[in-house]
Amino acid sequence: MSTIYDKYQIIMGLETHVRVKSNTKMFCPCANAIELALEPNQNVCPICMGFPGMLPTLSAWVVDLAVRAAHAMRSTVQEKSIFDRKSYFYPDLPMGYQITQMYHPITIGWEVRTLIHGELKSFRIHHMHLENDAGKLIHVSWKTLCDYNRAGSPLMEIVTEPDFRSKEDVIGYLEELQKIMRWCWASDADMEKWQLRCDVNISVRLKDETILRTRVELKNINSFSSIGRAIDNEFERQIELYEAGKAPDQETRGWNDEKGYSTPLRSKEDAMDYRYFPEPDLLPLMLSHEYIQERTINELPIDRRIKYIEQYNLGADDARILSNDRTTSDFYETLVELTGDSKKSCSYITTILFSLFDASIEPISIVDIQSNVTEFARVIQLVNSDELSSTNSKRVIEELVKNGGKTDEIIDTLWLRQKNDITALEKIVDEVLANNASQVEEYRAGKVNLFGFFVGQCMKVSAGQWNPKVFTDLVKQKIG
Ligand code: ZN
Ligand code: MN
Repeated sequence: MSTIYDKYQIIMGLETHVRVKSNTKMFCPCANAIELALEPNQNVCPICMGFPGMLPTLSAWVVDLAVRAAHAMRSTVQEKSIFDRKSYFYPDLPMGYQITQMYHPITIGWEVRTLIHGELKSFRIHHMHLENDAGKLIHVSWKTLCDYNRAGSPLMEIVTEPDFRSKEDVIGYLEELQKIMRWCWASDADMEKWQLRCDVNISVRLKDETILRTRVELKNINSFSSIGRAIDNEFERQIELYEAGKAPDQETRGWNDEKGYSTPLRSKEDAMDYRYFPEPDLLPLMLSHEYIQERTINELPIDRRIKYIEQYNLGADDARILSNDRTTSDFYETLVELTGDSKKSCSYITTILFSLFDASIEPISIVDIQSNVTEFARVIQLVNSDELSSTNSKRVIEELVKNGGKTDEIIDTLWLRQKNDITALEKIVDEVLANNASQVEEYRAGKVNLFGFFVGQCMKVSAGQWNPKVFTDLVKQKIG
């Protein structure tokens, strides 16, 4: 059954603020630590409070991470960018203006790519600029309290082109953005910790239209789970207006996730004049070609994800899991490099290691074992050369995770090395076949499922110390 909504399509663009993971605020030595439970206004100084005569100094650490983040979006870093003053009054803004980059942002253009339901999609970036954050207002009954601990904290604002056609697009992009920010260490981009915030510009139009209709900016979306709800609600609200012969106003609306609807914050008519002008207390930011080049990032999570699917023949889920974070991905890459076995390297991480981590009482992750990666590779090598059974390999891995050490020493201490002395093995096979002559006859007469019985008998006689694969080959040679 088709509904009025089916005639329309949704067009969205995003403005995302990502908090830079620097140790200080953007222009002063205060800690950039909003997630610490500090007393209100404990983490402030005359610079971020905008006292008269105080001068901002741009943090080199912020610039370093922003350039890395720009590379991760394949964006073009500008050798010259300029800070502007955006003047407005609001109680959470102690300086009376925000320092931002209006006309000459630090990077321009390019894209974030991601896989959505197996399809490679690319969302264009318009630009990214640097700016400082405002403080926080806390409303307590009839009073409003101001906490400036966050004021002056460094933000990257990433503005996209209107390339999003569904909520899956938006969520896919944000998840990839979060991944690449973590990948280049620029930010943890955790939405719940206010390290990533997203405003969505939404318009709708008939499916065969090419013009863009009036757009509405939706703010206050605070979690991944609320994005979908906010988008659905705005899509339907605009369509219902058009269907009633009206049109949405160009305005900014605030999403209320508890109530499940948005309310107007400000309309185009009362748009403020921010009186942008170049920040007189800061020189233009000049970056050398070498500085920019040194911070290049070669492979992104999406590149590795595609490589794992197309070249390493992994399933889509494994490829995604192994490319999610850089430590796991680097660990995996080293394993593949050392063993030449992309599939086993994958399963040893995703099944054996991850379940050991899950079962561990002490919190443990790849980070804790990454320095011992060659020993984990050695386990896979020994399994592949039939010197260690895959059952026993789990014991060795467990030991490596718990106590570290050397794979070969662990194997010899635990008596796990498989004996592949061929004459001894042949003797066992001959013995088994001689003792089960009637079964051999039945097998030769066509009862082929007895094959496993012979191998099982060989394993039994050898007390499981020898390798079943070699027995399989030998039995085949003798009676096949
Ligand atoms: Zn400060
Ligand atoms: Mn902004």
